[in-house]
Amino acid sequence: MLDLDTPDSNYSLEEMDRNSLFHPLTSISQHMANGPQIMGKAKGVRLTDHKGKPILDCSGGLWCVNVGYGRPEIAEAAKQAILDLNYWHLFGSASNEATIRLSDRILGLFHDHAGADHLARVFYGTSGSDANDTNFKLVRYYANLRGTPEKKKIISRMGAYHGLTMAAAQLTGIPSYHKAWSLPDGEVFYTDCPHYYRFAAAGESEAAFCDRLIADLEALIAREGANTIGAFIAEPIMGTGGVLIPPAGYFERVQAVLDRHDILLIADEVITGFGRTGAWFATGLYTLKPDIVTLAKGLTSAYFPMSASVISERMWKVFEAGSAEFGPVMHGFTYSGHPVGAAIAMANLDIMEREGLVANSADTGAYLLAGLRERLAEHPYVGEVRGEGLMIGVEFTADRATRRPFQAGDAVHRLVASKAQENGLMVRALPFIEVVSFSPALSITKADCDEAIDLFAGTMADVTSQLA
Ligand code: PLP
Repeated sequence: MLDLDTPDSNYSLEEMDRNSLFHPLTSISQHMANGPQIMGKAKGVRLTDHKGKPILDCSGGLWCVNVGYGRPEIAEAAKQAILDLNYWHLFGSASNEATIRLSDRILGLFHDHAGADHLARVFYGTSGSDANDTNFKLVRYYANLRGTPEKKKIISRMGAYHGLTMAAAQLTGIPSYHKAWSLPDGEVFYTDCPHYYRFAAAGESEAAFCDRLIADLEALIAREGANTIGAFIAEPIMGTGGVLIPPAGYFERVQAVLDRHDILLIADEVITGFGRTGAWFATGLYTLKPDIVTLAKGLTSAYFPMSASVISERMWKVFEAGSAEFGPVMHGFTYSGHPVGAAIAMANLDIMEREGLVANSADTGAYLLAGLRERLAEHPYVGEVRGEGLMIGVEFTADRATRRPFQAGDAVHRLVASKAQENGLMVRALPFIEVVSFSPALSITKADCDEAIDLFAGTMADVTSQLA
């Protein structure tokens, strides 16, 4: 048993948390009633909470611990980087070796593994949200520098998650993130969510559904005027929205619409990047041609808060050409291109390459998906089990024949996730529709998957009577 309690045994860590911590994405009333769930230690795909309870982690934290927990090589790289140059910045042409090498490596990975030779420069931040905030501004910067200042609106999609800064929260297309924050209030518009299982009309084929999505996008562009729309942002596979895999041909058709109207594509690969889908990047998986790619999470496997916006040659050329007239790029952060983060990212990528984790994600992901499908095939409340690589979602329905959702208050997915945790399995309940997600470390083994499938099937058996 880990002893993380304070020396004063009358004042527990739980109480101290309740009395001092303001938790993000947390119900305050439930937190005050139930207290925190404090994690103690982790190694590989195994967590131990502070009371010593073992948990098999199929969440990867928040879809982010791609190489697994407790990697000594990363600890060594961090230590060395701190001793060598614990901080330097990138402002005014300042630079550092680790960040230079990382930028070259990221572009190389896109060129070699995603057919994205057109990506040309890397800008750094510290979170997926601030990277999308940067992207929001870069769309404006591009419009202003190229002399089309009215072309600044951004199209996002219902169900999208792009983070929660003021700009990113508007790109996010999930109403619960807007409700109490007076959002959206900007120049962001939402087109339909590309989730066939839930949003197709009765009897509508996948092809007809895709036609409808494209028609909705075209209508939105026509309504606002193509000359006012700067960019379209999309997660190649929507994560927080519910592991939503687009219908066949969707992105080819979206790309054609964007090209026709001179609209930039921002591919938000914060989750899908770095092997999560079984490909290095979903840009390669769907042969996308983004002008900006958002990266975070798997870039450092969450050993350091680091994000990146990778931009295209055509954007870079406009920035370069406008430089003399517009002056310095008046955007950036103290921690943009942090040398310790870059060293950690390099060590993380070394592990991914050395251990073939992208291939493992494809192979083991297919195994986990097949196993879950087989075990849940007859479950009356499991509607769809879907995934790509180690990004897997289980969607619940109150009625398999009609695909009717449960009542809003039932929160079946939350019940399942919390019961799973009691049973020793960490999966996540997502906020848009009734889905739990699996996104374990890419180093997970088939034996771990067998255990996860057993634990999840057992959990579903436990909760079935409560769902009836
Ligand atoms: N974009 C996507 C696709 C995400 O899934 C997330 C976080 O889950 C973000 C952006 C925001 O990242 P962060 O929480 O690091 O700000």
